[in-house]
Amino acid sequence: MKRYSMFIDGEWVNPSSGRWLDSVNPYSGEKWAEIPLGNQQDVDQAVQAAERAMRQGAWSRMTPSQRGQALVRFADVLLEHAPRLAEIEVRDNGKLYAEMSNQCKYLVEWFRYFGGLADKVQGTVPPIDKPNVLNFTRYEPIGVTACITPWNSPLLLLAWKVAPALAAGNAVVIKPSEYTSASTLEFAALAVQAGLPAGLINVVTGLGSDVGEALVTHPLVRKVAFTGGESGGRRVNVAAAADFKHVTLELGGKSANIVFEDARIEDALSGAISGIFAASGQTCIAGSRLLVHESIHDVFVEKLVALASTARFGDPMSPDTQLGPITTEQQFRKVLDYIEIAKNEGAHCVMGGAVAQGPEGAKGFFVQPTIFVNVTPDMRIAQEEVFGPVLSVIKFKDDDDAVRIANGTQYGLAAGVWTENLRRAVDMSNRLVAGTVWVNTYRSTSYTSPFGGFKSSGMGRENGLDAIHDYLQVKSVWIYTGGPAANPYIRR
Ligand code: NAD
Repeated sequence: MKRYSMFIDGEWVNPSSGRWLDSVNPYSGEKWAEIPLGNQQDVDQAVQAAERAMRQGAWSRMTPSQRGQALVRFADVLLEHAPRLAEIEVRDNGKLYAEMSNQCKYLVEWFRYFGGLADKVQGTVPPIDKPNVLNFTRYEPIGVTACITPWNSPLLLLAWKVAPALAAGNAVVIKPSEYTSASTLEFAALAVQAGLPAGLINVVTGLGSDVGEALVTHPLVRKVAFTGGESGGRRVNVAAAADFKHVTLELGGKSANIVFEDARIEDALSGAISGIFAASGQTCIAGSRLLVHESIHDVFVEKLVALASTARFGDPMSPDTQLGPITTEQQFRKVLDYIEIAKNEGAHCVMGGAVAQGPEGAKGFFVQPTIFVNVTPDMRIAQEEVFGPVLSVIKFKDDDDAVRIANGTQYGLAAGVWTENLRRAVDMSNRLVAGTVWVNTYRSTSYTSPFGGFKSSGMGRENGLDAIHDYLQVKSVWIYTGGPAANPYIRR
């Protein structure tokens, strides 16, 4: 059994509470590690360390190019350790090793990309409308950055924040999910091993309501980057607003995956499955509302059920496994509650709808892949995020109807469109109110392309060139080059 400490100022530090939380393997149902239960005192220690590292330490003296090179070196070390980190993540969140291993290898690209960008952020020299003045702008780091992450893809979502934050010259304090903290602690230790200065990356573990809030409200924290549920995001946003902190929020979704009658049916079937059953539905971009044109609805659903029925439950470490457990007992109960809600609302369950047996020897929380038809857009199952393997199929009549239904929730994270008609593809991508629209594909993201939500799915963008500006603030510098000072009572 591994007992972790927190990682603060380049050192392993025991929690001042003297208490630890259990980290449970969702597949075996067994405790495999202990995670420190942090408190406000630990948060303060971590924030002070980050403030020192950023304002007085080696990081503050490095040129942007040197900072970028340091991040690229960190990427190399992360890549070397990717298989081990992926294994830890599987032990914590129960997602497939095949997926987590890809994620852990891929996330190094964020450190290469933003490392490369560190010395390419340039100010401007505005053509000022006044004589004898030189005015220029420079981009400066915002300050200590709180990075708060969920349990479904701990390190990937962390890289989306830490890489641009550091490239911009900030230092970070990370608060990972209380269910999946181990990989983040290992990540921070690897940063020091890769030569990044102590105090640049600190990790405080514990509960959101406790450590998370203490971090968001700490006076030295100037930027908060949060990924999680809508209600947590709302609380974080309100708490941060009290001190006018910069905030980016990546929240939940109820994304529409829309299949038109002219789609390549086999591709759309595969996209529908990947949209909702990959990671047992525990992804923010889950295509949890499948909108199908009425002319192909019955045939499509029949084929979908046939394909989904072939999914294999198993040990997430095994390459043959397609479906793993739900990560936490709390989430398992939530998914089952939503299945009951859908049944009571009159949706018709054509597949699953119950606890799954799970593979032999496993004690985790398994839910059958579940498909509801006869879902109407106003039902709770069509409006609220389940975050599990539960699909709502909704019929639509024409393009306008599809747009109306797709846009008719509080969310706007992503949408999928399946069509062979180019005009329709472009028209739908214009009209769908979502931060990402995929056409004839689903679930793609990249370090080069902005990602984030419209409406209640969040604010700000991660990834891509612009993301670094969410970790910078612009300063305007005025230099007077003229003769004697003018009348001081008149503004120039
Ligand atoms: P969550 O909101 O419960 O927790 C996320 C993180 O916030 C955790 O570290 C938690 O401890 C912390 N937290 C909770 N309350 C807090 C508070 N008041 N102050 C500060 N920190 C607090 O979310 P979760 O259950 O871990 O993850 C699932 C949710 O995350 C889903 O809604 C999913 O859609 C969303 N998500 C969004 C994206 C995205 O990029 N848009 C990606 C993955 C997951």
